[in-house]
Amino acid sequence: MFDLKGKVAVVTGGNGGIGLGMARGLARAGVRVVIAARDEAKSKDAVKELEALGPDARAVATDVTDEAAVRRMVKATLDAFGRLDVLVNNAGTNIRKPPHEVSLAEWRQVLDTNLTSAYLCSHAAYPAMKTAGGGKIVNIGSMMSIFGAGFAPAYAASKGGIVQFTRACASAWARDNIQVNAVLPGWIDTALTRRARQEIPGLHERVLERTPAARWGTIDDMAGIAVFLASPASDFVTGTAIPVDGGYSIQG
Ligand code: NDP
Repeated sequence: MFDLKGKVAVVTGGNGGIGLGMARGLARAGVRVVIAARDEAKSKDAVKELEALGPDARAVATDVTDEAAVRRMVKATLDAFGRLDVLVNNAGTNIRKPPHEVSLAEWRQVLDTNLTSAYLCSHAAYPAMKTAGGGKIVNIGSMMSIFGAGFAPAYAASKGGIVQFTRACASAWARDNIQVNAVLPGWIDTALTRRARQEIPGLHERVLERTPAARWGTIDDMAGIAVFLASPASDFVTGTAIPVDGGYSIQG
């Protein structure tokens, strides 16, 4: 049920953090992963790491906010591997400022990277999935898909939007046998949250206190959900938003 040998996945932002954790899980299950991110040196290292797990992997330098680059990346995937079964829309960024300090350029940067990118990649991937008779799309939300945060208005808007975009695509594409789900990670130790810990005093302790599992997540905690949502095990699961958060979101 979880054997994904022969499948092909694109993981945006798969060269580090949560994307790499998910890519590792997919590669261990036999998936050939294409990493779509900007930093070519980081992507090259990630490809080496994934290939050491077994299947082929590729990097395609991509800025996911650029429509033409996204189309080129999907074409390069199809040219290299002949199919595209799984799309993980993971690339993301944050600018931590209260709403009255966020400029329009900053707002657009966060929305473009976190939300419009998911539209662009899903839109570009859909024809191949439809032609193949099915596919899996996994969108990465956040605890801020559920909760507000005064220091991250654009991020919260983008991550709320991801959940609604997920539901819309799930509904539109169910008859094409394409399942679309969102994953809402809790606080996972990555470059993004290391920066947050520096910028927000007390964050580290607050996360530990509120998380029932009493720890930060690791990127490898994200592997299992990626495999589940990419596999036939989730064929009747669509439009959901699944927290992977050590219980953070159920704590009163
Ligand atoms: P990282 O900063 O470690 O990784 C972000 C990734 O996104 C990098 O691989 C980066 O690659 C890529 N990326 C950023 N902008 C672009 C772009 N314009 N085009 C292509 N790739 C881009 O962060 P995380 O791993 O923590 O975050 C991954 C996702 O998980 C994000 O969507 C984030 O919002 C979400 N998330 C993270 C949580 C956490 O606790 N860490 C909690 C909830 C959600 P490159 O720079 O090479 O382009």
